[in-house]
Amino acid sequence: MSPKHKTRPSKSKSKRKHYRRVATEEAFSIPEQMDAQRELVATTQEYDPDLFLWKIQTDPSGPVYHNLLDLFEQRLRTMDEYDVDMHLLALTSTGVQMMSPEKGTAVAAIGNDRLHDAIQRYPDRFAGLATIAPQDPAGAVKEIERAITKLKLNGVMINSHTNGEYLSERKYWPILEAIAAHKVPLYIHPRAPIPLMAKAFRTDHLEHAIWGYQAETGLHGLRIITSGVLDHFPGLQIVLGHMGEGIPYWLYRLDFMHGRVRIPFDRPKLKLTPSEYFKRNFYITTSGMNWEPTLKFCIEAIGADRIMWAVDYPYQDHPDAVDFLDAARISEKDKQKIYHENAERVFKLKKK
Ligand code: MN
Repeated sequence: MSPKHKTRPSKSKSKRKHYRRVATEEAFSIPEQMDAQRELVATTQEYDPDLFLWKIQTDPSGPVYHNLLDLFEQRLRTMDEYDVDMHLLALTSTGVQMMSPEKGTAVAAIGNDRLHDAIQRYPDRFAGLATIAPQDPAGAVKEIERAITKLKLNGVMINSHTNGEYLSERKYWPILEAIAAHKVPLYIHPRAPIPLMAKAFRTDHLEHAIWGYQAETGLHGLRIITSGVLDHFPGLQIVLGHMGEGIPYWLYRLDFMHGRVRIPFDRPKLKLTPSEYFKRNFYITTSGMNWEPTLKFCIEAIGADRIMWAVDYPYQDHPDAVDFLDAARISEKDKQKIYHENAERVFKLKKK
């Protein structure tokens, strides 16, 4: 953590109730990703919302640079300080998805190897999600195979759109098929909205985590539902951060409007209603949404079995996320599920 970085005081470790705490959306970077993104920043003239943040992120004097590159020093210290047992790590957004297909596939493999090494070194502290380059679908399928069977990673992460396209499009189905075949989850992590959408968000910089990320990533999740792809891969399990990127709040209206037949909308026919897919095929995490009313609502709407805890380190801090769930007025049973039991099951983590 950089000296500039402030965290507010949390309860001392001795007073905190003991839970096994598994944080499920935790970011890291590698020098190869930093170099590739720095090059994109340097060679892109027009405004790009993701590169706007990458410019800050690749700056050694910036707020997250050192914490992203660090796996073993400050990260483990702050995990220990706040009694966090495990980080489920993934290469930070936008992964390799802004790179050329060749470069993306190459950097993904390096990142996955590095992640594997970190997990080997601290198997009780780290698990991880594989990075792939969807812009190279055949290469991505191969890397999924290698990352899951050889490197034993715990799932796959994709940072929402790739070159303005969503995973519901046919050319990406082999990727979904491979993930489903390996019976691991796909975590769809946010990035800024596709360029067509982003312009409307730019006033007051609404295109990032404040609003744009959930608009982009919620739309991505919804398009996977409405495209009918889940009728082809009914076992596919998808994880969305940030309490489900707004979708749980909207489930009633999605079902109502999708089922409406008075207007002849041209949509694929589905076997289930949107909310039925959501409750069958999606998990959500609490990343960056440390707010009890939303948590209680999501428990009621989709059930505590489908909710997992996350910090979103280093973009958000351990004490807020720990204090939030420790203090949440929900049942102890649900708290255990959300803190670790669901993550152990979904990501096939070694139980303690
Ligand atoms: Mn995140």
